[in-house]
Amino acid sequence: MATSTVSHTVARGGSFLVESPRPEDVFTPADVNDEQKLIAQTTEEFITNEIVPLIHDLEHHKEGVMVGLLKKAGALGLLGGAIPEEYGGAGLDKVSATLLAEKLSAYGGFSVTHGGHAGIGTIPIVYFGTEEQKKKYLPRIASGELISCYCLSEPQAGSDAQALRTRAELSKDGKNWILNGQKMWITNGNFADLFVVFAKVDGEKISCFLVEKGTPGFSVGAEENKMGIKGSSTTALFFENSPIPKENLLHEIGRGHIVAFNTLNAGRFSLGCYCLGGAKRTIEVSSKYAKERTAFGKQIAEFGLIRQKLADMAISTFALESMIYRSAGMMDVFMAGAEAGANKTQHLMKALEEYAVESSISKVYGSEALDFVVDEGVQIFGGYGFHEDYPVARAYRDSRVNRIFEGTNEINRMLIIQMLMKRAMGGVLPLIPKAMKLMEEILAGPSFEEASGERFAEEERMVANAKKVFLLASGSAVQKLRDKLADPENQEVVAALANIVMDAYAMESSLLRVEKSAARPGAGDVSAMAAAMRAFFSDAADRIEHEARTVLGAVAEGDMLRTQLLALKRFSKREPGNPIALRREVAAAVLAGDRYPFEYR
Ligand SMILES: Cc1cc2nc3c(=O)[nH]c(=O)nc-3n(C[C@H](O)[C@H](O)[C@H](O)COP(=O)(O)OP(=O)(O)OC[C@H]3O[C@@H](n4cnc5c(N)ncnc54)[C@H](O)[C@@H]3O)c2cc1C
Repeated sequence: MATSTVSHTVARGGSFLVESPRPEDVFTPADVNDEQKLIAQTTEEFITNEIVPLIHDLEHHKEGVMVGLLKKAGALGLLGGAIPEEYGGAGLDKVSATLLAEKLSAYGGFSVTHGGHAGIGTIPIVYFGTEEQKKKYLPRIASGELISCYCLSEPQAGSDAQALRTRAELSKDGKNWILNGQKMWITNGNFADLFVVFAKVDGEKISCFLVEKGTPGFSVGAEENKMGIKGSSTTALFFENSPIPKENLLHEIGRGHIVAFNTLNAGRFSLGCYCLGGAKRTIEVSSKYAKERTAFGKQIAEFGLIRQKLADMAISTFALESMIYRSAGMMDVFMAGAEAGANKTQHLMKALEEYAVESSISKVYGSEALDFVVDEGVQIFGGYGFHEDYPVARAYRDSRVNRIFEGTNEINRMLIIQMLMKRAMGGVLPLIPKAMKLMEEILAGPSFEEASGERFAEEERMVANAKKVFLLASGSAVQKLRDKLADPENQEVVAALANIVMDAYAMESSLLRVEKSAARPGAGDVSAMAAAMRAFFSDAADRIEHEARTVLGAVAEGDMLRTQLLALKRFSKREPGNPIALRREVAAAVLAGDRYPFEYR
């Protein structure tokens, strides 16, 4: 396993809201080591040389093409990232896995297939399998001999996964579990050999079973006619008195939901990484096209509004990338802290639980950033963007599903706040004392401190204030709604709080990255990166203020509301800037290399 740690300080999940780490405490893309870059390069070459030439065949489900490519990927070691070395995998650290996911995403049909197999189709066995199950399946999954998939959703149970109806009953002779029911939307369904299936025992105990292809009474439905990721396979599955050997129960009866949700935690983080890679690729093709296309006697890249789009695409990608690598680095530091002799798999599961908030942020922010980027990409291509012969049309269609699967973005927004509140109530995260301290600060009135004059002092202040706004808004919401915060009628409040959390994390991660880059010996010019950060700050601070107003308006009234809005105004104050000039600088950096300009920086 490669190590990718910079600081050895373990940051608790969600602690970014209450702590102020130093730049050297966070991992940034500039900290990626050569070994990790080699993994990225191998993956990129595989995609360019093996996948891209076959996209037409893949989009039309030409028999055997996808499976053949998966086996090639297996031979290169690209399927075993999540599998420990002793079971034939690569046991990649999180930063390497992030790079791998990023590079795979150049073709969405393949990255989704890869995620269904090497991610959510593998992780349940890695985390919860018995020694026999691991030995039997993992080496063959790593090589691509067996293709796997994750089967939770049903026609009537998607977000509400626990409402699943597929049932499992022990056969009279006690040798088999008998499965009956139906699954829906199963990625890799058409060509998978191994199906990780969730079903209820005794009508209520969610449990997980390993189902092999060819099981009697088990059949696969027709390929679904999807809007995008057409190269991936998505089918229904049917079980009619299908006997599953007793030893193919994964984990324990009634503990299947633990398997399901831990797996999704891992999948959510990876989904953000795939989105990051997709956004970078779209920036690249859009920048090139903007120079090739002329209108009114000029390259369209010379027009301010096209430059603004390229800049905005790079800015949201930069914010996403800063968060993702920071989170990946935190997970690696956590892993490195495992005690000698500790079970590494168990420790990795703890890491996923610890950083579940950051994983949901990766999923929501990543999928929405990519949707924005591909939409602007289509706009830069004009009419050609609407044509399937040009790459952005497919990227646009492929992007859309990311907001739906691995827990919809609505569900993940709820989860972000629920998980933070659980950590606060459990005393893991000192949100409550911090909120009380903030109240004292508000009552004491403004302090009129002199600006420090340091290079990024204003941005540091804005980050600190973003966190205060979260404490103010969430404190007010909890005080008013208490245990009703999680009720369906309060979802708008919860989502607004989640939006503040995400922007606060993005702001701080972007700032720490710029500060770390600027302090690096021989760092060169970080001014375009600083411009991206500052442009992002300006928009994020506006959004945070808006969301906090929404929350406060819903939970306070009269004098209390007026007092809280005054505090909000105080924490939303900032120096004026020139967002157009900042964006021009970022656009120039994109156009200079026809690519996302901050990779590995
Ligand atoms: C291409 C594709 C591949 C997939 N691959 C897999 C796979 O490999 N394995 C697998 O198990 N599943 C897979 N899925 C299923 C996917 O996980 C579900 O589609 C997803 O969880 C949403 O469930 P649903 O479609 O039933 O929508 P619903 O749950 O019906 O949601 C409909 C809308 O209601 C909203 N909603 C639902 N509940 C709430 C709530 N409590 N609060 C607020 N809003 C709510 C949702 O956010 C959404 O906007 C795949 C789906 C697609 C489209």
